[in-house]
Amino acid sequence: MNPHAPIQAVVPSPEAVATMSPTAIVLSLAYIVAAVLFILCLRGLSSPDGARRGLVLGEIGMLLAVVATLLHKDVVRYEWILAGLVLGSGIGVAISAWIPMTKMPERIAFSHAFGGLATALVGVAEYLREVDGLTYFKVGALGFETFLGFLTFTGSIMAYGKLQGVITGAPVTWKGQNFLNIGLFFGALMAIGLLVYDRSQQQVFFGIASTGLALGVMAVLPIGGADMPVVISLLNSYAGLAACATGFALNSQILIISGALDGSSGLLLSLLMSKAMNRSFANVLFGAFGTVSDPGQPAAGQAGKSYNEATVEDAAAVLMASQSVIFIPGYGMAVSQAQHAVRDLAASLERRGVDVKYAIHPVAGRMPGHMNVLLAEANVSYDKLFDLDNINDDFARTDAVIVVGANDVVNPAAKKDTSSPIYGMPVFNVEQSRSVIVLKRSMNPGFSGVENELFFQPNTMMVLGDAKKTLLSMISALKDGH
Ligand code: NDP
Repeated sequence: MNPHAPIQAVVPSPEAVATMSPTAIVLSLAYIVAAVLFILCLRGLSSPDGARRGLVLGEIGMLLAVVATLLHKDVVRYEWILAGLVLGSGIGVAISAWIPMTKMPERIAFSHAFGGLATALVGVAEYLREVDGLTYFKVGALGFETFLGFLTFTGSIMAYGKLQGVITGAPVTWKGQNFLNIGLFFGALMAIGLLVYDRSQQQVFFGIASTGLALGVMAVLPIGGADMPVVISLLNSYAGLAACATGFALNSQILIISGALDGSSGLLLSLLMSKAMNRSFANVLFGAFGTVSDPGQPAAGQAGKSYNEATVEDAAAVLMASQSVIFIPGYGMAVSQAQHAVRDLAASLERRGVDVKYAIHPVAGRMPGHMNVLLAEANVSYDKLFDLDNINDDFARTDAVIVVGANDVVNPAAKKDTSSPIYGMPVFNVEQSRSVIVLKRSMNPGFSGVENELFFQPNTMMVLGDAKKTLLSMISALKDGH
């Protein structure tokens, strides 16, 4: 595409339309429709029941945008595009077939890495191809694109490595680290300014690219593995901004629009996730939170306290005497892949006439919508899922709550203990229900590393063991109890 052509509005003026070729008019129309579909896609994705429809709309929009771009008059050869299409589709199909649902954050980190790399490489190619003819504006856009693209690439690879356990999940910190990272960021911005002043300075351009690569590694190192979903969402936002800058550099309106939508939604999601965890955004990025707790160690202060360790049969007896049951899934359900067993136990309770609901916390698990995705995979209907505001008053009227591998999201300390790191995070009023059955493997703390007094309440039964195995045994015990 011609980088010197002025950037046109997405909806061209009537005078401009009069001078356009039929292909250019079709292209413009296709881009307008694609942009609308992208917005409808985001709208659909904002609720579980609209998510599937939103995804389909987004996919149609993307297909339309890609096909329309291939019709652009500046695209003259298709062999390499076809080769990329076949290779990319092959890798995409393989990834979606082999990577399980629980590895979703890793998968997303991986695809962001390559999105960032592609953007950065386009930036490098454009700069080298056009270096002498670039306008001030476009050289600035290429600088941003390359910096953010490489930052997204290495940052996402680091996030993937931390989640996968290839790199330590514990925050790696040293003195002056934040100052160094902030210094690198502003250094890169100044270098982009210098490049705009003198576009021929190739060493400055490659300095910007190298700073992006280094900053991606340095910025993610001090963040704990469990905070990676927030980081991935932020990197998604950087990838979007990089794509937006690419749109300015290539004079592609659809890239500008989709990049801006991607950039802003990624940023909003990161902010919402931090808010739901009751942590400031700065604390996630610079607070070195999320230190991996030693699996052999109970939380400080809970050693020696007594709790009711119950058998599967004890728990089944409580369920047989219940009329209403609420399931609260958490990260442990994902670890043990217990979603199908949860659904089967719920079905067996419903056959007994029990009223069953699911309480879904916004930050249960390790990524937004984690529990919704798993329960949808197990065909649990959406109308049985309730969010915090819609179910919190029901606990006081509920006979039994089954906590399936959740910990922080049911910790009453978040409401009472001002010194607790999770104080202020909205949590379920589980302790108000008549009986609480907690399924987890040990008395170890959850993500935040803090003690959970719910486990020591007189109306709580701790059924220790892998959640899936315990649930399957509970289903058998219910059958035997007939
Ligand atoms: P938690 O991490 O607080 O607790 C999970 C519990 O699951 C652990 O106590 C663990 O106990 C148990 N568990 C692990 N494996 C199994 C298994 N196989 N069978 C049974 N139990 C198991 O999870 P929650 O979902 O309650 O809370 C999520 C936390 O993650 C919050 O603090 C949130 O802020 C944070 N977070 C959430 C993000 C999101 O987007 N959802 C993003 C980043 C952080 P044990 O080892 O004893 O079995």
